[in-house]
Formats: sequence, structure tokens, C-alpha cells
Amino acid sequence: MKKELHIAFDDTDSLKGSCTTHLATLIVHEIFDQVDFIDFPNLIRLNPNIPHKTRGNGAVAFRIEGDNSDLEVVREVVIKTVKKMARLEDENTNPGIAFVSNTIPKEVKHLSKRAMWAVISIPEAEEFNSLANVELIKLGNGRGIIGALGAIGNPLENDFTYEHLAYRMPKNFGTKRMIDRESILTADKATPLTFSNVDYKYNSIMITPRGADPVFSGIRGETIDEVMKAWSLVKPLEEISMLMVYRTNQHTNQHFVKEFPINQLKPHLSVIVHGTINKKPYYIEGSHLIFSIRDDTDEIDCAAYEPTKSFRGELSNLAIGDNVTVFGGVRPTGEKHPMTINIERLRVNSLVKQFIYENPFCDKCGARLKSAGKNKGFKCQKCSAVYREKKQLEKELPRKISLKEYLPPIIAHRHLTKPLERMNRDNKNKRFRKSDITKIMRMLVNFRK
Ligand code: ATP
Repeated sequence: MKKELHIAFDDTDSLKGSCTTHLATLIVHEIFDQVDFIDFPNLIRLNPNIPHKTRGNGAVAFRIEGDNSDLEVVREVVIKTVKKMARLEDENTNPGIAFVSNTIPKEVKHLSKRAMWAVISIPEAEEFNSLANVELIKLGNGRGIIGALGAIGNPLENDFTYEHLAYRMPKNFGTKRMIDRESILTADKATPLTFSNVDYKYNSIMITPRGADPVFSGIRGETIDEVMKAWSLVKPLEEISMLMVYRTNQHTNQHFVKEFPINQLKPHLSVIVHGTINKKPYYIEGSHLIFSIRDDTDEIDCAAYEPTKSFRGELSNLAIGDNVTVFGGVRPTGEKHPMTINIERLRVNSLVKQFIYENPFCDKCGARLKSAGKNKGFKCQKCSAVYREKKQLEKELPRKISLKEYLPPIIAHRHLTKPLERMNRDNKNKRFRKSDITKIMRMLVNFRK
């Protein structure tokens, strides 16, 4: 009888190279013929504001089916490969592996939801070892079990996207990625269901990462067909070692679930906070924009940093009294700054009216009047008429900000940021049959043959 096994791992990489999806793709190649995949590999991004992450706080989960003996072989391959490939020499690399047989316990799903916005401790995660169908394996201090549980417990039942990943040959790791730039523009235009391939405003190609990691390119989109079509149009100018498509919570805003009153904010949480501007926006050294908001409980600084570019200029138009909802990560108090919300997106809920006051006009000659002195009315310098009763004219100023949601430009998006172009999209319920998953994954695994 076939059984289900869910496998996840995290914290296998360091900034010096490697990356969790690369290791995962190597493992897919090794186990693909042994078992059936009942979903594409999942790439789950967790709370992006936790302090321990290397880059994008991503963990990987596989959901497979097979006989007991095949599942045992796969279990051993995963443990062996993680042990062999993980950058264990780096003290910040502390891998964790999780296995869940058959149904994912509701407690694990609950932890996984919290891992999107909260900070979970290693002992808290370790307690899940006591559940009958959960097995956790720790290497180093084992912090990776947090991300592994976070990924395993998130079967992407709600909104999701796909990412097509291409990997470099090891001999090229650390060198400049060679790619035909024009082909990326062509692929972008030909595939409306891919997104964030290029930031046209800042003339920046987004599908190729910059670091030393093994990823050559990542193409994100709404459907498998579309990300594969985009890849078929891209011309790499270096040899590609492996391909894989991940189903993922990237670009779904899944980390913004919990609303907080300001006095409940704690460092490293991903938060939604409603408040009214009580200190107007100003720039500090480094060209970062700061303002503060208050609610019934307290007040807090909010920051839009220099890399968010035009986002700062837009938010600089906020005024005292405007009501906003801030979505962001809580930065702990530092030597030079109080606890601050790093803004990832902001919704303007209401705007105060702003006025200027101008002197009235002369009824006789039409000229602009001058003040005749405090409480003495106005006089006309042209025809000498005097007006004791006239008052200054109130003129409403147009506000340079609207009742809508503001986002940084694509170059400053995080992995979980839901871009404007997919704001009204929800991929829920669009799933593949097992036979189609196998067919597509076989094609990717065998692309060099
Ligand atoms: P990459 O994106 O390149 O895979 P990364 O940014 O995912 O790297 P890791 O090296 O995996 O970084 O480190 C993240 C660590 O944070 C892992 O040990 C993971 O278990 C842990 N972690 C993930 N989510 C949480 C959370 N909500 N609370 C506490 N720790 C977490």
C-alpha cells in the first residue's frame, strides 16, 4: 500500500554559496524515479523579519507517495544529502529536517501559520517531535527545524505562485551570470502571466540574482505553462546544470495576517498596524524617510529606507492626521533609533484636508489687498479702499497622495511582496493532477538528456 510522506528542510546554506533550493533540486534528481511526487516541490518563504535568515528565509518541502521501503530509501537520501552538502562549517548554518507521514497534524499547520509572522524558538519547534507521525532531525543547533516545520505545514491551500529555477554549473559559481538581456525582455513581453521579470522604471533585470549562489535565474508566474514558456524564450549564455519548478507562497503577502495595537509590537514580527500620522515625514542621513503614527495605545516610528526609492517620495506627502495601515517588519530599538516599523507597503485610509489662506481682493479695482495690521482688516494699495470686515480666503490644497495602497518599486520587493499586478489574483484551487506533475517534473529532471 502506498503512503504519503512530507519532507522539509531548511538552514542548509550560508552567504558563501549554496542555497536550499539547489540542494532540494539535487535531491529531487536523486529520488525522482523512486517515488511519486503528489505536488511540485514547495518553496515556502517564512517571516522575512527574523534575525537568523541568510537571505530570503526560504525552506523547501516535498510531498511524495510510495511504498514503505521506497519512502525509507528517500528518507535516507535526504538525511545523507543534507549532511553532505550543507555548509556545516559555517556556524550560522544549522540544518533541520522534518518528516511527516500521511496527514499533516493541525498543530503543525498552526505553527506554520505563526512562522509566517512570529518568531519561533528552537525548543518550541522541538516539541513537535512528540507527535506520532512527525520526525525532526537537528544538525548543528538545529534551528532549521523551525523553517522545516514552517514549510511542511504549509501545503499552499490558498493563494500561491510558481517559480521556474535554473541552476549554474559549479565551475561558474561566483562569476558574473551570462545571459542575453534582449531575450529576457522578449520573454517578459510574451508571457503576461509571469511577473517582476524586469523593473522597467529602474532598468533592472530581476530574474538573475546577484550573489554567489548556484541559481542562474528565477522566473515567477501564475501558471507552470507561462513560467516554462518564459524560460524557453530566455537565452542563457552559459551552461545550465539543472531546472526545476517550485510551487510557492512567494508574492502572496502571506506574512501579513496579524493586526497589532502599537503597544503590543515586538521586534522581528511581521505586522499590520492601523494608525494616524502624528509626526510628519522627514528625511534622515542616508536618505531614509521617517514619520510616526499613533493609535489609542501608543505611537511608533515608521521608516521607508533608501533602497525603496520612489516609495519614499510618495509617502513623504503624508500629513499629520492622515489615517494609514502600515504593513511591515518591526526593527528592534538600536543605539540611534527607537523601535521602528520597516514599511513594506502602506494603505492610505483617509486624508485630512489641507488649506492655505490668502488675502481677499478689492471690490472696487480687483487688486489683491494688503493687511491693514492685526485685527484692522485690509486695505488696497492701488485704490486706497479699506475693508474692516473682510477675512482671509481659505483655499483647499490638492493632496499629492491618494486613498490607495502604496508599494515600493519592483527592485525593492521582498520574496513575499504581492506585486500590484497580482493584487486581485488568487490562485487558490488551481491544482495539477499527479500524472501531470510527474510528466512536467520528468521533463525538467531530464532536460539535458
Ligand atoms: P535562503 O533564502 O538562501 O534559503 P534563508 O534566508 O532561508 O536562506 P536560513 O539559512 O535558512 O536563511 O536561515 C533561516 C533560519 O531561520 C532557519 O534556521 C529557520 O529555521 C529559521 N526560521 C524561519 N522562520 C522562523 C521563525 N518564524 N521564527 C524563528 N526562526 C525562524
